[in-house]
Amino acid sequence: MTDPTPAPAQVVDVTIERGTSIALTFDDDLVCTFALTDMRANCPCATCRGFRERGDVAWPRPGQSSEIAIRDASFAGAWGLSISWSDGHDTGIYAFASLRRWWLANMSEPLTDEA
Ligand SMILES: [Zn+2]
Repeated sequence: MTDPTPAPAQVVDVTIERGTSIALTFDDDLVCTFALTDMRANCPCATCRGFRERGDVAWPRPGQSSEIAIRDASFAGAWGLSISWSDGHDTGIYAFASLRRWWLANMSEPLTDEA
């Protein structure tokens, strides 16, 4: 019998360009590249989600620079990335499975923090 729910694709490589982009390589050879500005603007944390749910932009906020870089990034278990941004924001956890869905949807759906 075949398994009707195959295991989700695993990330095998993460390439971080601190000032420009993040690229994720999955075990089925799909490579998803994200601009840091898109990732920061779509931060999946509760605070940023709240801004967007009110029809507001999560980033850049009024008076904030529209330039962004990664100060630090670490793995959140095996399922995502915790990112500390140059604007001091660090509460978003970017789940790999959610990033993959987001990329496959051409970033037209909200990014969630669900694995
Ligand atoms: Zn956030």
